[in-house]
Amino acid sequence: EPLIRIDQLSKQYKMGGETVHALSDISIRIDHGDFVAIIGPSGSGKSTLMNVIGCLDSPTTGSYWLDNEEVSRLKENKLAEIRNRKIGFIFQGFNLLSKLSAYENVELPLIYRGVAGRLRKEQAIEALSKVGLADRVHHKPSELSGGQQQRVAIARALAGNPPILLADEPTGALDTRTGVEVMGLMKQLNKQGHTIVLITHDLSISQQAGRVIRIQDGRISEEGGETRERRTS
Ligand code: ADP
Ligand code: ADP
Repeated sequence: EPLIRIDQLSKQYKMGGETVHALSDISIRIDHGDFVAIIGPSGSGKSTLMNVIGCLDSPTTGSYWLDNEEVSRLKENKLAEIRNRKIGFIFQGFNLLSKLSAYENVELPLIYRGVAGRLRKEQAIEALSKVGLADRVHHKPSELSGGQQQRVAIARALAGNPPILLADEPTGALDTRTGVEVMGLMKQLNKQGHTIVLITHDLSISQQAGRVIRIQDGRISEEGGETRERRTS
C-alpha cells in the first residue's frame, strides 16, 4: 500500500456566486521513502493541495488515504489529531517561536503529542543531531543564521519521526547557496528513509527531488522522475 493515495480528488471554493475549481480530478500515489516535488506556477493549486495532503483542509470530492486511513471525510478535530501524529510541517518562513531555544522549539510538538519527559528529550536531541545542530540547542532563533533556523524547523518536523515531512517552499526565504545546503539536508534525510513531499514554484529546487509532479490550473499536467519511469516502463 502506498503511504499516500489520492483518487480523483477535487476542491472547489465558493466565492459569492462563483465557484473556483482549485483542484480538479487529481490522482497521486506516494510510496514510503519517496521524495516528491509538486511544482506549479502561482494560482495552480499548490497551497490547496498542500492543505489537503497536510490534513489542514478537506477535499470537496474524491478520496485521500493516508497511511491506510481514509482522511477525506474526517471532521476538523480528528484531522488535527492525524496531522499531529503523521505530518512534520516545514514552512518557508521557518515559523519558530522567537522566545524559545532551538531545543524548546523542537520539543514543542512532542509536548503536544504527549510524549513523556525523558523520551521527549531523547527525540528532540536526536532530531537536532540529524540536522547537524547538536551544538546549538540553547541558541534562540535570532542567534542563528537563516539556514540554521530552517534546520531547527526541519528538526522540529522530524521529532518523533512522523511518516511524512511536508515542506512548503522550504528554501523560499534563503539565499541560493543556503537553499542548496538545505536541499542537500533534505536529500540526506530521504536517503535515511524519510518520505518527503515538497511544494515549490522553483524548477531547480524541484529537480533535486526523486520525482516531480507538475500542476497547472488545478490539474496534474506532467509527472516525471525515477519512480514513475520504472512504474510505467
Ligand atoms: P498556489 O498555491 O499554486 O498559488 P492556490 O492553491 O493558492 O494556488 O490557489 C488555487 C486557486 O484557488 C486560485 O485560483 C486561487 O485564487 C483559488 N483559491 C485558493 N484559496 C481560495 C479560497 N480560500 N477561496 C477562494 N478561492 C481560493
Ligand atoms: P503560504 O505558503 O501561503 O505562505 P504557509 O506556508 O504559512 O502559507 O501556510 C500554509 C498552510 O499551513 C496555511 O493553511 C496555514 O494556515 C497553515 N499553517 C501555517 N503555519 C502552521 C503551523 N505552525 N501549524 C499548522 N499549520 C500551519
